[in-house]
Amino acid sequence: MSIGSPSNQRASRIYLDHAATTPVDPRVKAAMLPFWEGQYGNPSSLHSWGREARKALEAARSSVAQSLNAHPEEIVFTSGATEADNLAVIGVAQALQSKGRHLITTQIEHAAVDAPCASLETQGWSITRLPVDTEGFVSPDALAAAIRPDTVLASIIHGNNEIGTIQPIETLGSILRERGVLLHVDAVQTLGKLPIDLAHCPVDYLSLSGHKLYGPKGVGALYIRSGSPLPLPSLWGGGQEQGLRPGTENLAGIVGLAKALEIATEQMATDTPRLAELQAQFIQAVLAAVPQAVLNGPSDLRLRVPGNVHFSFPPVEGEALVLRLDLKGIAVSSGSACHSAVIEPSRIVKALGKSDEVARSTIRFSMGRSTTAAELDRVVNILPEILGKLQKK
Ligand SMILES: *Cc1c(COP(=O)(O)O)cnc(C)c1O
Repeated sequence: MSIGSPSNQRASRIYLDHAATTPVDPRVKAAMLPFWEGQYGNPSSLHSWGREARKALEAARSSVAQSLNAHPEEIVFTSGATEADNLAVIGVAQALQSKGRHLITTQIEHAAVDAPCASLETQGWSITRLPVDTEGFVSPDALAAAIRPDTVLASIIHGNNEIGTIQPIETLGSILRERGVLLHVDAVQTLGKLPIDLAHCPVDYLSLSGHKLYGPKGVGALYIRSGSPLPLPSLWGGGQEQGLRPGTENLAGIVGLAKALEIATEQMATDTPRLAELQAQFIQAVLAAVPQAVLNGPSDLRLRVPGNVHFSFPPVEGEALVLRLDLKGIAVSSGSACHSAVIEPSRIVKALGKSDEVARSTIRFSMGRSTTAAELDRVVNILPEILGKLQKK
């Protein structure tokens, strides 16, 4: 394939890795373009370029807030969900350290929450990582039992990025609120697919990312409920974003994020049922075609991120299958990562109580707006043959 020219092969490729990232919607790109061209002003400048930029920035903030049923002043734009997660976890822990140095999280967090927790742990904070059941659900009773007098924050992922488990955030949040513990939620995988109404949900902080919902990479936001403690910033500078995220705003990115969320919110009523339908059919078809297939995550698809499918095909290693499928033009992901020629079992699937073999043979198929039933049929048809070849090796 020559660089820059989309080949025929590209047209027939099948992208089933939407949980890793999504293409930018053409409507989003069109909304962003002016901010790289004529409207390149700095929102902090006093002249008309600056005022126009400021207006666009605040319009984007209002739009994001509206999609979440929040207030504009509750939205802080960041460089992505990793930064939003870090700001919430480390920033709130630091802001409240005189009150207590205990945090609660789960064994199935994204690295953007898990790693900041681990970092706090090395600095003397105490972290409780709640276990999950065989389908990835946190027990409300276990959460209640984990709360201590020095607990200041819980961070719980809404829709798990690997196995698709959707936590009962309202139930968990109510328990925490009753006991005076703040809640941060990483909603990257559910935002745009499920309605999130922050006016009626006991959540204090919520992270989102542009590129998981057909917006650009490198932009995200942290929602901070008004009245909840402000996190301590980790960057210091010009005071932008209430001083929580100083630095000249990524205006094109922010406008793109707002547009992407607007579109996702508008299309949710049609997109989500379509994804759920494809998901259900694909799971059925794979279980029928591949006898060794083990479905990881919720079997009740109403409790699963729409479009998320996660299987293990023991004894075949996930990474080997990813590479074989890639040769056929099919993009999927394995939760296991290869470190120095040793395949590490997925820590998420291990948390479900599954064996190392099952946790090393994981594959995530994540569908999106472009996914068709015909594409999924092709994958189902190709899978048994590829698995057969890999097993013989
Ligand atoms: C992708 C992802 C992130 C990180 O988002 P970035 O914007 O890429 O930093 C965080 N949490 C979850 C659940 C994700 O899927």
